[in-house]
Amino acid sequence: MGVKAIKDMKPLDEARILLHTATLLDASDVMVAVFDPDDRLRYANKAFREAWFIGEKEEPLWAELMRRNYLARRGTVLATSDFDAWLLSTLSRRGKTGRRAFETDLHDGRWLWMTETTEASGWMLCVASDITSIRSDERSLRQDRDQALKAALTDELTGVASRRFVMTKLQELLFQNNDNGKTVGCLCVLDIDNFKYINDRFGHVVGDAILKDFAVTIHRMIRKTDVLGRVGGEEFLLLLPGAAPADAEALLEKMLVAIRHSSPLSDQVSFRYTFSAGIACGNAGEDPADAYRRADLALYAAKMRGRDQIALDPTIRSMTGSP
Ligand code: GH3
Ligand code: MG
Ligand code: MG
Repeated sequence: MGVKAIKDMKPLDEARILLHTATLLDASDVMVAVFDPDDRLRYANKAFREAWFIGEKEEPLWAELMRRNYLARRGTVLATSDFDAWLLSTLSRRGKTGRRAFETDLHDGRWLWMTETTEASGWMLCVASDITSIRSDERSLRQDRDQALKAALTDELTGVASRRFVMTKLQELLFQNNDNGKTVGCLCVLDIDNFKYINDRFGHVVGDAILKDFAVTIHRMIRKTDVLGRVGGEEFLLLLPGAAPADAEALLEKMLVAIRHSSPLSDQVSFRYTFSAGIACGNAGEDPADAYRRADLALYAAKMRGRDQIALDPTIRSMTGSP
């Protein structure tokens, strides 16, 4: 029976099927969990709860779950001495629409094949199977390959997504359906203001610290299905799937405020910096370079108007009919 047939059912039949499914899943040794758009655990079967030490009625946020297991040295083995850096880098790729699959190991010695499937709404299904006894011969080779892949998809300095990852996601966003011309969401190009001056005045080390502060502050404000990537020196691309221009504008206005108030230099507490951004709509089927160009032109307009502000691609106004 498929989703549509279940949707057509009476609530009582629906609940009965759900209960049987849950009972069967508790008897299975495959680990299954469902996370909501805020990344809170909303369902996990017995095997999943046991592997990650989750109580029967607990619904932790994924980040909280990983942190507490990391501190207790149980659950997933994380090869890092800096949990927060690991978390930012993983969150920059986790939960973006589509499917991911990777190998991972647990402190109890088990090896797992983990798949993550995410809906456009941000709901995510995680399924992990025990593969300890199979293909252990080339495991270290595969791990090295995964590590290299992960490095290519993460920006080394800031920990957010790399240019490669965010550009691939832009391509996927524009080509996810056949509804050519339909708006699929917004893309925003964010660029730190007068960054050359900051580097010249305070040095590259301070410049780097500001880049990290910017990435962390902005990343904290986005949804699970949004993607933030560093595309060049002090330029970032933010993808907001499904967002209307007004939503993007409101979010970016909040980000302008957050960055204006950020004080990243502990020895110069009065130091402040700003950024500018250009917003464009992505149209299904169009060349990613065209969409990017419109957002970049809007960014240029924001810079010309004096920086520390956002500008919308003028074709958005003509599309929505607003003045
Ligand atoms: P605008 O407000 O118009 O954007 O001016 P700007 O000075 O920010 O722009 P510009 O593109 O002229 O300067 C960008 C500078 O960013 C130049 C380069 O030295 C610096 N930069 C690029 N990558 C890095 C990096 O990884 N670390 C540091 N510290 N600086 C970088
Ligand atoms: Mg700049
Ligand atoms: Mg720039």
